Amino acid sequence: MSFVPAALADVRARLARAAALAGRKADAVELIAVSKTQAPDAIEPLLAAGQLTFGENRVQEAAGKWPALRERYPDAHVHLIGQLQSNKADEAVALFEAIHTIDRPSLIAALARAMDRLDRRPRCFVQVNIGDEPQKGGCAVAALPDLLREAVAAGLPVAGLMCLPPADVEAAPYFALLAKLARDHGLAGLSMGMSDDFETAAMLGATHVRIGSALFGTRA
Ligand SMILES: *Cc1c(COP(=O)(O)O)cnc(C)c1O
Repeated sequence: MSFVPAALADVRARLARAAALAGRKADAVELIAVSKTQAPDAIEPLLAAGQLTFGENRVQEAAGKWPALRERYPDAHVHLIGQLQSNKADEAVALFEAIHTIDRPSLIAALARAMDRLDRRPRCFVQVNIGDEPQKGGCAVAALPDLLREAVAAGLPVAGLMCLPPADVEAAPYFALLAKLARDHGLAGLSMGMSDDFETAAMLGATHVRIGSALFGTRA
């Protein structure tokens, strides 16, 4: 057995316990290790321990780090969890296995063209501004039905919904709302939960939790 860093073992155990409490299997929740701002030296021990799914929030940063890491770990998957500019759609489609931040028609159109051009189809999550906060990314709850229709019509492989709930308040009601929206639209994927609230998210149906600081320590 390879060495498993303590923080990774701890997060895995907490995730499995939360899933079990809700009657879910541990492998129903995929752990995305959020490696934004982390150097390859910090990422490698997780890869070596068998953690193969990572999250990055910037196309440029991911393009600088991941090609070399993937030469050594070809099974690694990288998900984009940060906002995406339409002019980087080609690069994002080439680089990521999943994109969690679909939030507007112009981005849907740009991604659809990029996927056709590159003949590669990363799974897509539509980001919902679940607390209707003016400064947050994501589509308004009221705009979701139309945006989903557009994404499907454009041929994007829509896997589910993603949210970042408001800070400093209990996240559970927002997670429950995102889960309801996904159910209403027949979507299986739910990308929700971060270091401070991933157990709550796992109990409320998250299929993907995005965890950075609990694995790597506080970011600089
Ligand atoms: C940084 C980030 C995370 C991880 O946050 P932590 O609190 O460090 O776990 C999750 N999701 C998104 C969208 C992020 O930008």
